Amino acid sequence: MQPLGEKVILNNGVKMPSFGLGTFKVTDEKECIQAVSYALDIGYRHIDTASIYGNELAVGKGIKESSVKREDIFLVSKLWNSDQGYDSTLRAFEKTLKKLDTDYLDMYLIHWPKPFNIETWKAMERLYDEKVIKVLGVSNFKMYHLEDLMAYTNIKPAVNQVEYHPWFIQKEVHEFCQLHKIQLEAWGPLMQGKIFDIPLMKELSEKYNKTIAQIALRWDLQMGVVTIPKSTRPERIKSNAEIYDFVISDEDMKRIGELNISKRIGPDPDSINF
Ligand code: NDP
Repeated sequence: MQPLGEKVILNNGVKMPSFGLGTFKVTDEKECIQAVSYALDIGYRHIDTASIYGNELAVGKGIKESSVKREDIFLVSKLWNSDQGYDSTLRAFEKTLKKLDTDYLDMYLIHWPKPFNIETWKAMERLYDEKVIKVLGVSNFKMYHLEDLMAYTNIKPAVNQVEYHPWFIQKEVHEFCQLHKIQLEAWGPLMQGKIFDIPLMKELSEKYNKTIAQIALRWDLQMGVVTIPKSTRPERIKSNAEIYDFVISDEDMKRIGELNISKRIGPDPDSINF
């Protein structure tokens, strides 16, 4: 399947599929294995997990059960907050590799900027130099977190994975990332389910004869944002990916953008205490 292989080129030249599968809260092993292998079999080439999700083992099994070769998959995991620090990052990365049953990651992200610890990034730079991580990235970083990181390190993050949906477009962060060639990636693109209640999304769903999820995910792509909706239901995994056969008009793109009320559905990165 060609369209799902559509890629963005990151600031280090690596190509990243602009659409992938999220796995947050997928804790049932069988369900996770099935979702990952099904998604890969129908054309997904990008899988997003994190050590805190507790499903790296199942994601690894899902990859093995699929018909897709490891080298054709863009596999992402994240370093949890309590593992920040130089040695602890190296140890956490090793555990992640073992659970995923792989010998490299396509991308490794610092999950949250708190606690901010420059040693974490230095350890990641080492792993990048050793070629066991192809892309270094961050998640939930605000502008000042990015500025702090870039002031003290050699390698610039290639990706910032943040909460991003029509209620919360993070215009400043997005513009800053564009300026510094840091690819923005959306988590919660379906607002963890809340998007289905927005009247404009219903109206556009009828207008384009597409599901609300498809409108929201297509909007991400047209905004230049990589997107990773989560579902464990085969019919949704399939339909969420059917977003390459229509285009949202400039006017409707603008109307969706105007839904922005700077409202998060997840935690503010500065106020987390987990
Ligand atoms: P999403 O916005 O992707 O929403 C997922 C929810 O929408 C699930 O309840 C899913 O249910 C439902 N859903 C999916 N497709 C459809 C559909 N077509 N119709 C109706 N309902 C649908 O939320 P997530 O928080 O999961 O975000 C996506 C991914 O981003 C995560 O899975 C994770 O990988 C990543 N993430 C990263 C974070 C970070 O801090 N870096 C934080 C949060 C998420 P069902 O499974 O039953 O279909």
